[in-house]
Amino acid sequence: MTGLAVLGATGTIGVNTLDVIRRHAEQYQVVVLTAHSQYERLAIQCAEFNPAYAVMVNEEAADKLQALLNEKAISTKVLHGADALEQVVQLDDVDVVMAAIVGAAGLQSSLAAAKAGKKILLANKESLVMSGKLFMDQVRDHNAILLPIDSEHNAIFQCMPDNYNQGLDKIGVNKILLTGSGGPFRELPMADFPKVTPEQAIAHPNWSMGKKISVDSATMMNKGLELIEACWLFATDLDKIKIILHPQSIVHSMVEYIDGSILAQLGQPDMRTPIAHALAWPNRIESGVSMLDLIAMPNLEFNEPDMVRYPCLGLAKEAMQVGGTATTILNAANEIAVQAFLDKKLNFMGISKTVEYALEQITTKVVDTIETVVAEDERARIVAHEFIETNMMKVGAIH
Ligand code: NAD
Ligand code: MG
Repeated sequence: MTGLAVLGATGTIGVNTLDVIRRHAEQYQVVVLTAHSQYERLAIQCAEFNPAYAVMVNEEAADKLQALLNEKAISTKVLHGADALEQVVQLDDVDVVMAAIVGAAGLQSSLAAAKAGKKILLANKESLVMSGKLFMDQVRDHNAILLPIDSEHNAIFQCMPDNYNQGLDKIGVNKILLTGSGGPFRELPMADFPKVTPEQAIAHPNWSMGKKISVDSATMMNKGLELIEACWLFATDLDKIKIILHPQSIVHSMVEYIDGSILAQLGQPDMRTPIAHALAWPNRIESGVSMLDLIAMPNLEFNEPDMVRYPCLGLAKEAMQVGGTATTILNAANEIAVQAFLDKKLNFMGISKTVEYALEQITTKVVDTIETVVAEDERARIVAHEFIETNMMKVGAIH
């Protein structure tokens, strides 16, 4: 039996992970489930999977979860607080950690899993964006296994030989071709951008995802974060990665080799495929995803992304070029701006403007310790907040 901790169990990735696990109960034992505050959903998951531990970050929600579990005589031990997340990933019974918390909140627990030498299934791309070098160093120093869940990075991983970590030049890679759908506003006249609502932004044409990543997909900041994620995961520079718009989300990314070959991974846009791949790697298990019908499939398009339409893409590239804490600042300012947009305090265009402002205002530092990363993340959040509050009228807030 493989013991599993699912961090962010109530989210889109968490729920999809449990759906795959449910199909292979003889192979996987859920040891830990965690969530921020959705105690009712976590109680239902505890009743089904009977984990040894459940963590609720919110203390009040933890008490409510405990009461629900008592009613149903479920013996799961309930812990609370962010520190508990770091403790549970280190448990001996935990072999695999699904890191599926959204945003910077997922950093410390992902790092703790790396330090404990676990097999990490990384959905939380933000931890690599915030602290790429530190994170990869911990993975290497503690012999952790890092497998990407992000569908593009999982596809790239599948298109590479096992020894890719020797360096992409040594294995004959010419370019990584990172695909992105372009989100729901790919064809919307840009004059309409200021009127875009959060409801429109989170309605992704192909994927069903959490709110934050859905907004990131609409601005294409998601592709920017993924560009940075790919640089760290595959130890490569920006110039080896090309972003290609592919509106159908059937090809999940590709690797181009110096002999002219391009290897691609195709499949339905359903996160259970990369989740099942990483869970079972190097074997394969059924995921519940239906087979792709190549004959019934729509024509596939591949286009150059429009950098004017998607300013966040350019900002992410710039931050990665600058290096150090620039990507930490990018990520933090983006999280604040996305939340303000969802709360209708900032319009859609204001997201990139907030990130641009934070990057201009804050001098970057070398990423030497995790304390530096956390401090710079906080500083960027304050600057982003100030920008949103003082410029609300100028950038056209929606009230
Ligand atoms: P989601 O919003 O659906 O779920 C987030 C989960 O994190 C929930 O379980 C929530 O309880 C938990 N959480 C939220 N705030 C927390 C906090 N402060 N502390 C602890 N836990 C907290 O998000 P999602 O769409 O499942 O995305 C999760 C991660 O996976 C993100 O990093 C996202 O970029 C990445 N990802 C998601 C998809 C997708 O299809 N949804 C695809 C690729 C990558
Ligand atoms: Mg992705």
